[in-house]
Amino acid sequence: MSKQLIGQGVARGIVIGRAHLLAPSELDIRQYHIQRGDVLHEVARLNNAFSVVRAELEQLRANVSEDAPAEVKAFLELHRMILDDSLLCDAPRDLVRTRLINAEWALTIQLEEVCRQFEAIEDEYFRSRSQDVRQVVERVLRRLAGGRPSPMALAPKLQEGERLILVAHDLAPADILHFREDASEAVAGFITELGGPTSHTMILARSLGLPAIVGVGEARTAVAEGDLLVVDSDAGRVHVQPDEQALAEYRRQILLQTQARSELRKLRGKLPRTKDGIPVELSANIEMPEDVRDALDAGADGVGLFRTEFLFMNRDQLPTEDEQFESYAKVARAMKGKPVVVRTLDIGADKVLSYSARQSLGLARDGGEGQGLEPNPALGLRAIRYCLAYPELFLTQLRAILRASSVGTIRILVPMLAHVHEIEQALQFVARAKEQLKERRQKFDGRISVGGMIEVPAAALNLGPFIERLKFLSLGTNDLIQYALAIDRTDAAVAYLYEPLHPAVLQLIHQTIRGGARAGLPVSVCGEMAGDVGCVELLLGMGLRRFSMNPAQLLSVKQRLFELDSKLAARLAKRVVRMHDPLQIRAALERAERQGGAMGRPLAGPRRTPRRR
Ligand code: PEP
Ligand code: MG
Repeated sequence: MSKQLIGQGVARGIVIGRAHLLAPSELDIRQYHIQRGDVLHEVARLNNAFSVVRAELEQLRANVSEDAPAEVKAFLELHRMILDDSLLCDAPRDLVRTRLINAEWALTIQLEEVCRQFEAIEDEYFRSRSQDVRQVVERVLRRLAGGRPSPMALAPKLQEGERLILVAHDLAPADILHFREDASEAVAGFITELGGPTSHTMILARSLGLPAIVGVGEARTAVAEGDLLVVDSDAGRVHVQPDEQALAEYRRQILLQTQARSELRKLRGKLPRTKDGIPVELSANIEMPEDVRDALDAGADGVGLFRTEFLFMNRDQLPTEDEQFESYAKVARAMKGKPVVVRTLDIGADKVLSYSARQSLGLARDGGEGQGLEPNPALGLRAIRYCLAYPELFLTQLRAILRASSVGTIRILVPMLAHVHEIEQALQFVARAKEQLKERRQKFDGRISVGGMIEVPAAALNLGPFIERLKFLSLGTNDLIQYALAIDRTDAAVAYLYEPLHPAVLQLIHQTIRGGARAGLPVSVCGEMAGDVGCVELLLGMGLRRFSMNPAQLLSVKQRLFELDSKLAARLAKRVVRMHDPLQIRAALERAERQGGAMGRPLAGPRRTPRRR
């Protein structure tokens, strides 16, 4: 039966496709037979998952405070004992070998066997321990899920021309990277039950040009495998099993969108400027070197943000200096002299290195195995903090970026700075990397600019040291909003509070743009706000002249600029920054947009009502 589900759209467009439900990543227990030649690999996956969980439990134990109740340690000890029991750790290996089944299947068979034995015990205490066994096994399964094969292998059969809509409880940035490699042709869109619109997962989905909707509460219950779905990302709506009449209407809208897109393409070669002739720079955000194609295709003035951390994810070994150099140089060469802003590693929070990559760093400071164990990863060892904690990692990357500066116009951007000493240390590292290259007699641009991201409110409020020490600033509004409003950008439960138009956020942005302009320092916005057509007039009015966004948004933003008068925009911004209510601000922007005769669209914004998970 036809039904509609509501969430938050995170990219533009409507797509039709067949639902493919992904097992929750936390408990992926797909069962399949393997070839004899794959036995060693499957056993190694099991061994690795067990040792990772062992390390996790040890770390948890080490973190238990002295005054914690004795039961806490006893409970962790019990889990550790269960994990080491040969019934759980040896028997599944034998099952893999003898029955030629995958690791997850073997482990679940053994889990049921162990639980059956427990449940047969008369003593109630022991009987109830089967729950602990399940929890331990779930932990191991979760680890196994980290290295799972492509979910596409299990997708429903498609008719000619059909594509898939992936329906998941949650997706990690790493999952999207897998889809890019394995299945980008087959996937038309995403729906997730969790997640915020500016989570890195969704930024990546957007970079694939795929409509996606997050925070669709019970998506995996309401949608069945193979259902026909319409994802209307503009409206934040999923239509499940639409009838013929609704389908025809969606097809008509898709056609209109396709026509509008081909109209937009005509703007490619035109220089971006306002109606009154003020030139504006429109650059592209990229995540992988190959994305440079999209940047060029959209006619970008440069790469305003290269999120390099994606080169480091989903792999066992960290990329070498030479490998990184090739990636940065590839982008620099492709941009043919146009500026490329390479951001240094912003690992941490929702972007994690693999366990073995982290092991190669010594795992000295980030709590052993992982991010999951950090009390609050978005506030933890992330971005520049991570780089300063691992100097070799940072220096290697800086040398690679510097070397690439000899083949194009490269700038270095440092994320998440908040303290003067962080800026100074970052600059010292750049100087050290230059020295090392000089000793090696390798070429680089000695006058390379180093800039900083303004994405921690403390930085925006104390701009002086940034202006004194850096050559340019880039406003990371995604994190600025997250940290100013104390909203985890990945958490669907609080997505309704993620408000780009909150007066406090606008003050921080305005102050930064003004501060930069007064000091003659270039300021750009590279967060998602820069690509939000509904925010262009306000940002322009605040004095912003450099926008960097997902290439998919670039031509829409350019079209909007052509309609805008910079003086009217400045007047609008002046009024808006005095307002105290986001609803009032939103209404003022929408009114201005209508008056300007713009074709526009509703401003992206948070939902008005909280949702329970
Ligand atoms: C931002 O925070 O706005 C930003 C551009 O960086 P990222 O989204 O990668 O955190
Ligand atoms: Mg950021």
